[in-house]
Amino acid sequence: MSEDLTRLSAVRLARAVRDGEASAEDVVRAHLRRIEDKDPQIKAFLTLTADAALSQARAVDEKRRRGATLGALAGVPVAIKDNIQVAGVETTCASRMLKGHVAAYDATCVARLKAADAVLLGKTNLDEFAMGSSTENSAFGRTANPWDLSRVPGGSSGGSAAAVAARMAPLALGSDTGGSIRQPAAFCGVVGLKPTYGRVSRYGLVAFASSLDQVGPFAGTVEDAALAFSVVAGHDPMDATSARRPAPPARIPVPADLKGVRVGLPREYFVEGLDPEVERAIRSAVETLKSLGATIKEVGLPHTKHAISTYYIIAPSEASANLARFDGVRYGFVDRGAKTLEEVYEFTRGAGFGPEVKRRIMLGTYALSSGYYDAYYAKAQRARTLIARDFRDAFAEVDLIAGPTAPTAAFRFGEKTDDPVAMYLSDVFTIPSNLAGNASLSVPCGLTAGGLPLGLQLIADAFQEERLLAVAGAFEAARACLFWPGESPGNPSK
Ligand code: GLN
Repeated sequence: MSEDLTRLSAVRLARAVRDGEASAEDVVRAHLRRIEDKDPQIKAFLTLTADAALSQARAVDEKRRRGATLGALAGVPVAIKDNIQVAGVETTCASRMLKGHVAAYDATCVARLKAADAVLLGKTNLDEFAMGSSTENSAFGRTANPWDLSRVPGGSSGGSAAAVAARMAPLALGSDTGGSIRQPAAFCGVVGLKPTYGRVSRYGLVAFASSLDQVGPFAGTVEDAALAFSVVAGHDPMDATSARRPAPPARIPVPADLKGVRVGLPREYFVEGLDPEVERAIRSAVETLKSLGATIKEVGLPHTKHAISTYYIIAPSEASANLARFDGVRYGFVDRGAKTLEEVYEFTRGAGFGPEVKRRIMLGTYALSSGYYDAYYAKAQRARTLIARDFRDAFAEVDLIAGPTAPTAAFRFGEKTDDPVAMYLSDVFTIPSNLAGNASLSVPCGLTAGGLPLGLQLIADAFQEERLLAVAGAFEAARACLFWPGESPGNPSK
């Protein structure tokens, strides 16, 4: 094939490999070259597994030569957020605490990618233990936004979003606890899907807040996101919260119009603090949905104002329990200067965790401590129920909710690092969907005057990913232009 293979969608690449138009090895080599060229400035990858990728690619090519049927992602390169286990490869969670920790097994989502003949390129940067919204909390340096190297890619899955935006990988996996797939997808101008809680196995995902964490894909197109989702989704006996639902189909037809689709605009998502440029872009996106035949209706999600405070009790509480296992004995880093067991814990955790992780552990430990449990944790659980009920009521009236993914476009490095609360507010529109456990995605919906991408968030009720992806696909087709940073508009070839 004479085309630049890094410009093709995952769907197109898998077809090319299956039909013998391109070898998996050529596909992987093209992406490795692109990484060599772009990643020194962007720094999306923490670990590159080039040799393993080439041998996986050759194995796919060999399989084809034998005449065996190739999987849905034949030869498609995928980047993996570094809090997801890939056997034999370091999993650091961008923390000094796990430097040198080599995964003993594949996460279920990774095993499913491999079984679908995808090729794993390496592990991507994140905020330490997925705590943050800018990837600036990584212990191993920051990732730049491919659209403007002086800006953050969003977070916590910033490396995965940047890798796809810069065409270093057609697909990537991330995790979303409070927005960590959708917000970086919006900031980097790619598609990011947070599936329903329980739809993708969490086995092999390093736990941050177990009742909120969900694995999902980043892609250049809605169709690619749907394909990746169909591969990683489905019941897994290794995850006790895994839903007994079959994986969705690999191809979700794009409807010609959206007649009969009722879209709700939550009043509470168009409020002060929403950048006027973002608001204009979202209103224009809503006009597009309307022109496709959707009916638009205002809805109320009245408990939205409590979402951030609810999340910042529940997520740190679960994190403080989950992160107790990093004790200097079982995983990765240990402070060798310690003389007593007490000192092993104290010195290891003191030196191993960064400031944001420590802040979360302290918040969570406090919220769970006896005497405060009812006032904080139990109350937050009640607020969570009200937030979930808001969605239930809204979905009695509409099929989907549309709004901004984030209140602003990508911000500059350092702009929010001194003010944790300002950083927390980046997730005001994404956190409610995690608290309710429903499905949501971000799809590119235009650029600011300054040339930064913006994302439209679509939220659907639990297990309605097919509808979500169908509507997002229709929206994408109507807009008919995706942009690669620094280059002319154009869709990745299908
Ligand atoms: N930014 C949010 C936080 O810091 C969400 C992170 C995530 O989804 N992993 O907790």
